[in-house]
Amino acid sequence: MNDLDIEVQYIKGVGPKRARLLKKLGINNLQELLYYIPKSYDDRTIFKKIDECHIGEKSSFRLRVIGSATTLRPKRNMSILKIPVTDGMTNAYLIWFNQEYIKFQFESNKTYLVNGIKKVAGGEIQITNVKFEEENENNKNGEIIPVYGLTDGISNKVLGNIVLNALSVYYNSIPEFIPKSIMDKYKMMDRKEAIKNIHFPPNRDTLIRAKNRLILEEFLTLQLGLSMIKKQNTDKNTGLNMGEEKIALAFKESLPFKLTNAQENVLGEIFKDMKSDKQMNRLVQGDVGSGKTLVALIAMIKAVESGYQGAMMAPTEILASQHYASISNFLKDFDINIGLLIGSLKKREKDEVLTKLKDGDIDILIGTHALIQEGVDFKKLGLVVTDEQHRFGVKQRADLSNKGNNPDILVMTATPIPRTLALILYGDLDISIIDELPPGRKEIETYAVGLEAKDRINSFINKQIQSGRQCYIVCPLIEESEKLDIKSAEELYEDLKNNDFKDIAMELLHGKMKSVDKDEIMSRFKNGETSILISTTVIEVGVDVPNANIILIYNAERFGLAQLHQLRGRVGRGEHQSYCILLNASNNKISRERMRVMQSSSDGFVISEKDLELRGPGEFFGTRQHGIPELKIANLFTDMKILKLAQGEIEELLDRDPQLRENENQAIKMEVINKFNNLGNISFN
Ligand code: ADP
Ligand code: MG
Repeated sequence: MNDLDIEVQYIKGVGPKRARLLKKLGINNLQELLYYIPKSYDDRTIFKKIDECHIGEKSSFRLRVIGSATTLRPKRNMSILKIPVTDGMTNAYLIWFNQEYIKFQFESNKTYLVNGIKKVAGGEIQITNVKFEEENENNKNGEIIPVYGLTDGISNKVLGNIVLNALSVYYNSIPEFIPKSIMDKYKMMDRKEAIKNIHFPPNRDTLIRAKNRLILEEFLTLQLGLSMIKKQNTDKNTGLNMGEEKIALAFKESLPFKLTNAQENVLGEIFKDMKSDKQMNRLVQGDVGSGKTLVALIAMIKAVESGYQGAMMAPTEILASQHYASISNFLKDFDINIGLLIGSLKKREKDEVLTKLKDGDIDILIGTHALIQEGVDFKKLGLVVTDEQHRFGVKQRADLSNKGNNPDILVMTATPIPRTLALILYGDLDISIIDELPPGRKEIETYAVGLEAKDRINSFINKQIQSGRQCYIVCPLIEESEKLDIKSAEELYEDLKNNDFKDIAMELLHGKMKSVDKDEIMSRFKNGETSILISTTVIEVGVDVPNANIILIYNAERFGLAQLHQLRGRVGRGEHQSYCILLNASNNKISRERMRVMQSSSDGFVISEKDLELRGPGEFFGTRQHGIPELKIANLFTDMKILKLAQGEIEELLDRDPQLRENENQAIKMEVINKFNNLGNISFN
């Protein structure tokens, strides 16, 4: 136990009652108190002359008291205290209501640092909402006051004082843990100094230095923790030692096309992992249509020929069924048994699948996340393929490992993100990238139009359908919601059915339908029995109907860019020129910019980066659900430069001292172990 673990109630000025309030703010101990970073600052280092500031403006002044206080009593139960002051040029009154006692805190001819709002009333200048302090040696340059997130019963002042008390007692017990070499290289502010200055900065420059130090500190520990988990997984979890991949290669040869170089490279990395006696924990990033699913399938064939079972988890039942159908088709000439496990199976069917699975009569099981749940027992699970859509955290992936005897794990993501972020969000995984699309893919023509173009679009769709193509129409919500002014899918369906697309076979698909119904609708669309599929975003991921060449997206402004890109990926999957039409009902600048990005880029990496930029931090994905410690001061997006530095440093650190045995690295090692202890026993040996 170190000093920073001391419970907050024992800090001067706290006690049990306030401790309960602080708990609501997530502050339980000294460490959490010290790292309770102000959400903003009230900068009172700039003193204004009264003349310089506008009426109604809140400013700081340096004012001398030039007379004695007077009290007015305009009504019963009301007093107005007035203290005359000057800034040397302009005279004014400090004003308080019903706080007459304050006059005893002022002395004539003394100078005070005052913060308040300038007003004019009755021909005189007044300063109201006054905060003040007598000028002294320490504060004469003014102060930057921390502004904390608060809870009822704890004022900003009280919280500030508690932090101050804590610092006055424990300042010297705040240990440094960043290795000296890194401290020196970046001329980092010492930890205790940085903590003091983040709460009570003497000036802007010091505040920025303190902040940067704490951001770097946070990223260093985060990245180190993730790297250690990854290392531990690979070192400790002895994986399965799979043999040569003869059938997998034969399958590859049997395909009517050649894999792209990028697919080959990634497959090579996967094979190497599978053959090594370490457990594979690999993320494959690749744009929609880059052929990830196929790569995963080849890996599963390899697992099967090595005597294991493979499991593939899809984010939706529709997609699971589709994978089941296409993989069954791919493998029809191979002696490999495939099973499908989804929630909508009848009990008898489900039981049959489970029995076969247990007996080893199913080689490859495809399903939703249901397939890694309790009661699903594999005979010999060797490879799990998951889709990033599940948003598994570090911890869940560890649980997954326990399903078999450390099966290899392959995570697929179609929402590619910049490497710097991937290293954090998937910091415990090795990363492979498929950065190339199969040849011959035609660029999807993308148009962003307003609602006024609806008729033209619908007649275009009509024409395409006459010539044999199919079309997706996407609407964001299924139930009427006036507030959002979005046409519900049901309404839209009725409308189009009765008007623009009267004679066209059209069906509606949404997430609240029964699975069997969804499947049937999907397969009718796939077979070409229906020409238009009106749908909510349930078609977002993976759905593969090569003959569909138009996707029309209503209220496109309501979708994130990455999501639009996913949706667009539903077309352009066959030989026909394809079109993505974005109906943008909003005229705001960011929406227009987003539409512009969609029109000008077809690269998922570029789009996701733009998405981050336009949406701002936090919205893209909560980091919490990924199971990594919460960031208290650093921001993954706005502080990305510092993040990059931290990643470089950690890589070097682990190269130099992989086990963190050196003296200089003991402190940071302990810090990381503490920080990550909620993720299970990380031992770092
Ligand atoms: P992803 O999962 O990355 O979106 P898929 O694996 O579903 O992509 O592949 C999209 C389509 O492209 C599928 O129909 C697949 O059979 C086909 N495909 C995959 N790899 C190639 C390739 N190298 N050449 C041609 N077509 C390919
Ligand atoms: Mg896929």
